[in-house]
Amino acid sequence: MNNSSLRVLISDQAIAARVAELGKQISADYPDGDLVLVGILKGAFIFVADLARSIQRPVRMDFMGISSYGKGKTTSGEVKVTKDLDASIEGANVIIVEDIVDTGVTLSYLIGLLHNRKPRSIRIAALLDKPERRLRPVQVAYTGFTIPDEFVVGYGLDYAEDYRGLKDVCVLYDSAA
Ligand code: 5GP
Repeated sequence: MNNSSLRVLISDQAIAARVAELGKQISADYPDGDLVLVGILKGAFIFVADLARSIQRPVRMDFMGISSYGKGKTTSGEVKVTKDLDASIEGANVIIVEDIVDTGVTLSYLIGLLHNRKPRSIRIAALLDKPERRLRPVQVAYTGFTIPDEFVVGYGLDYAEDYRGLKDVCVLYDSAA
């Protein structure tokens, strides 16, 4: 991308330490019963992989593909399921694992959708939260970091499919601006 710069907001070490804490907390909160991590593609793929390995009890994994942002930095307000779960979640404890909660539109839609499938419980784990931008109320049980209203990439998050492989979470800004 032309004229773009990156600034590290959260280092890979800080992310690793926080994900380990979240894993411990989740392990303590779910001593028994089926636990399914539902990773939201594509942005949460690295977070869910690290979180699963830091949870010290058996977990099942499933994935949903959601498209809401298109290729730009602003939300279209539309949520589309591009890949559904492979297995039933009836009777299971579900944790939706999301990269970032911004307006809350995506997650409030998803929670409604998954509730209809009769899980035992549903909670949300989000690596990042931008509460300033919330349009729909969503309760996030496990938050990695609360961040200001800036556009971030890395650790799974993209801009037009670039930057997902960065180890750190970085702010992307136009250096020409
Ligand atoms: P929401 O429905 O909460 O507005 O949007 C959630 C989705 O928007 C996230 O899963 C993510 O895909 C995208 N998003 C929101 N803020 C950012 C951001 O700062 N950077 C990136 N890369 N994606 C974002």
